Amino acid sequence: MLSREYALSEDTKEEDLVALVEKLNKDDEIHGILVQLPLPKQIDEEKIINAIDPKKDVDAFHPANVGKIMIGNFDYLPCTPAGVMELIKETGIEIEGKECVIIGRSNIVGKPQAMLMLHKNATVTICHSRTKDLKEVVKRADIVVAAVGRPNFVTADMVKEGAVVIDVGINRLENKKLCGDVDFESVSKVASYITPVPGGVGPMTIAMLMQNTLTAAKLTLK
Ligand code: NDP
Repeated sequence: MLSREYALSEDTKEEDLVALVEKLNKDDEIHGILVQLPLPKQIDEEKIINAIDPKKDVDAFHPANVGKIMIGNFDYLPCTPAGVMELIKETGIEIEGKECVIIGRSNIVGKPQAMLMLHKNATVTICHSRTKDLKEVVKRADIVVAAVGRPNFVTADMVKEGAVVIDVGINRLENKKLCGDVDFESVSKVASYITPVPGGVGPMTIAMLMQNTLTAAKLTLK
């Protein structure tokens, strides 16, 4: 796979980034385009995402691809949620009929995660900052996906014995160490499976991005 990196300066103008995206849209050597978010404040994120050719949108953030994910007929998997699905698959535990609780409702993790789990016939609950009795809701879950962005947010008393716990969070502590949204130390004692941070969902996200890029190349050959 050919990989090209454009490390632009922080003061890049919006129109220059749009122009670069449009140039890559037309470049036959390029099948996938990923714009690393967040963008500097002078650039409208939505405008940039909308500028990417949906056929090259390997992050699956373009509204056309988001819509396809919603109806369950999609070319590209949203990378992080797809990585989570692969991790669950590896446990051998069937998702169908399970109570899945996702903490977080962002467009890049929480919402598409819920869709992928729903497509696999889970009973899905999405929690967020206004959820009441969060602990009680999470405790019902056979599968918990934490995508909150708060260090050690999920503790052992919130998790049902034997639950599968997937930690999407990546938080940098004051001592510069990375940690997830789940208190690994305590939750690993009650969970049947748990992912570490770093080394869990993060590498899977990258693997899914590679898979989407391969899919993108195959789609252009069709
Ligand atoms: P966002 O900040 O966009 O979303 C966080 C979500 O958590 C929001 O829906 C928010 O609710 C909810 N939340 C915040 N506080 C609480 C609370 N006290 N109780 C319940 N819900 C709460 O984050 P992202 O989804 O972008 O990312 C989440 C985490 O995952 C981050 O740590 C990020 O770094 C990591 N990440 C990791 C990736 C990987 O490859 N491993 C990829 C992408 C993200 P509300 O909507 O009400 O504000």
